[in-house]
Amino acid sequence: MTSAGRFAPSPSGELHVGNLRTAILAWLFARSTGRQFLLRVEDLDRARAGAEAAQLRDLTAVGLEWDGEPIRQTDRSPVYDSALGRLTAAGLTYECFCTRREIQEAPSAPHAPQGAYPGTCRNLSPAEREIRRASRPAATRLRADVEHRTVQDLLHGSYTGVVDDFVLRRNDGVTAYNLAVVVDDADQGIDQVVRGDDLLPSTPRQAYLASLLGHPVPEYAHVPLVVNHDGARLAKRDGAVTLADLAAVGQPAEEVRDTILESLRLPPGPLVNALASFDPLALPREPWVWPPLAPGRRNSG
Ligand code: GLU
Repeated sequence: MTSAGRFAPSPSGELHVGNLRTAILAWLFARSTGRQFLLRVEDLDRARAGAEAAQLRDLTAVGLEWDGEPIRQTDRSPVYDSALGRLTAAGLTYECFCTRREIQEAPSAPHAPQGAYPGTCRNLSPAEREIRRASRPAATRLRADVEHRTVQDLLHGSYTGVVDDFVLRRNDGVTAYNLAVVVDDADQGIDQVVRGDDLLPSTPRQAYLASLLGHPVPEYAHVPLVVNHDGARLAKRDGAVTLADLAAVGQPAEEVRDTILESLRLPPGPLVNALASFDPLALPREPWVWPPLAPGRRNSG
């Protein structure tokens, strides 16, 4: 089995500098440890026509190269079905008929962690399930037998988070992100997951699910996000944030790449130059604020 890292964008629109910075970091982590670097298009949800091709173009424009062809989640339903089938055969799933509202309004069990599914459908009798099936398609949830799990993260250390009866398949039939990501990482031989630290809270669930499916738990590095000057996570509405926007205001892709590298305290130029100086433990741990306050500072001193 290969040893690999990856970048797994959702093709919901153009990549912004925050996504590109995470992609560059994932590449640096993988390449500096002799791993392959793979791409996965997470298009189960939120896919927009043309976005995938544009994202791959932008990754290439900042100098990223990946191994093999990207895989696409919408091509992989049989693999997800088979993983779900194994969990179900082991008695580890159940049907859930709750609406979002019912979940919000349900009294949570004493001591249940905040945000955890309250367990409403966990112990429905066959007759109750039959009645509910007539009114609403079921989602499939995991029957978790732990409430927390601890994972190790290269940047965050030991992190303990909630594991609840999370959704594996939504009631519209779409495989849930937490199942797809675990199955895909295992199938692609990915043993290093580098991604934005907004996903750290999902990681204990994913590590737990990987163990249930008999997969090794990858090494994790959750990297700081890029934020705007109000401290909010960067978004399209924050002005010039994509390569196309930035090119239009006179910043070509190489310059954006160099600005990103500078924010990581790495030397500018082709990404291979940064590899030699890359030290995960020396990375800034705070969110990076975009746009940087003194653009062009590199050239003015
Ligand atoms: N597709 C997710 C996103 O774009 C990333 C998932 C992951 O890296 O595990 O936010």
